[in-house]
Amino acid sequence: MIYFDHAATTPPYEDVTRTIAEVMAAHFGNPSSLHRLGEESGKLLRKAREVCAEALKVKPSEIIFTSGATESNNLALKGSALQYISRGKHIITTNTEHSSVYECCKQLETLGWEVTYLPVNSTGLVNAEQVAAAIREDTVLVSVMHVNNEIGSVQPITEIGKMLKKDHARVLFHVDGVQGFGKVSLSIVESGIDLYSLSAHKWRGPKGVGLLYVREGLVLSPLLSGGGQEGGLRAGTENIPYIVGMAKAIRLTNENWETRARKLSGLKEMLIQGITELPELVLNSDRAGAPHIVHFSCPGMKAEVILHMLEEEGMFVSTQSACSSKQRKPSRVLLAIGKDTETASTGLRISLGEEHTEEHINKLLKSLGKVLKQLHQLKGETS
Ligand code: PMP
Repeated sequence: MIYFDHAATTPPYEDVTRTIAEVMAAHFGNPSSLHRLGEESGKLLRKAREVCAEALKVKPSEIIFTSGATESNNLALKGSALQYISRGKHIITTNTEHSSVYECCKQLETLGWEVTYLPVNSTGLVNAEQVAAAIREDTVLVSVMHVNNEIGSVQPITEIGKMLKKDHARVLFHVDGVQGFGKVSLSIVESGIDLYSLSAHKWRGPKGVGLLYVREGLVLSPLLSGGGQEGGLRAGTENIPYIVGMAKAIRLTNENWETRARKLSGLKEMLIQGITELPELVLNSDRAGAPHIVHFSCPGMKAEVILHMLEEEGMFVSTQSACSSKQRKPSRVLLAIGKDTETASTGLRISLGEEHTEEHINKLLKSLGKVLKQLHQLKGETS
């Protein structure tokens, strides 16, 4: 089997699964306990925070552990909306954000906040001027994702962040970094980012654990009240094994990530070349986008059928994004970049990982060609 769904989730590093099992068995103490077992877990927690901070080039005190990016995004948006209610109730985002940002904004709208959803261009991008033009007296937060999870567009985060810090320093800047980390270069500090979300399972760590970077000095309203863990921002006993596993994964991901990203770019180019040679397919990803995501549509055909036929060939791909694939609605992201409903309803996403080789891409293209031919024959027989 060849797994081409790395944007949905990635296979954990062996070192990560081993570490999780070891920590779970050997260090079950509650880090809040005062005795030796608690102190041992506390040490692991402190070390994991240091490792994550080092990977992101920020301070350990700025890392808040969460259950994943969905929670991090909710905490960033709702936590700042609630905390800074006296500054105003206006948020700016884009119309191609992940549902954990988009639905959060929709919920805040029902509670009286106003949200501006900036339109993207045909390659899925907004620019700093658009953001600047949307800012009002009562704007509290701008939230823009780094890399789009469906089509791989890379937003100009540094330009937006620098513009905000220069001209609108009171407006907070949140970035959903889930699909960009370890794939596309970004400096949190130099980009003026106040809040940055990550999920460990997108870079070979465990599922159900992630983090939110919260710039020093920034106060958020917590979503979970309780025992005051994570600096009072995220109550609940910390998931030590998974947090330690995440720290291991972030360190491994950060080592030589540029070399891996370059390799992925080469494979992506090869895949795009092959896809453009198949006349039935419409490419939706931009060549300049993230190195691991290639998205295309197959108008007139059912993407789900192609997905299952590829599965028969031993290849795992995705329709839209994993989170929205069960909704069977046209993709919000594809509609936003100007595609028609048919194109937006027949999308397939291939997302690459470090284990892939040119041989894997050739196999995928061959299988894709075969599947399309079979579907044409079937169509011919039934029409
Ligand atoms: N943001 C983006 C861009 C994502 O791709 C995902 C995962 N699909 C998330 C947020 C949410 O991550 P999780 O499901 O791990 O909470």
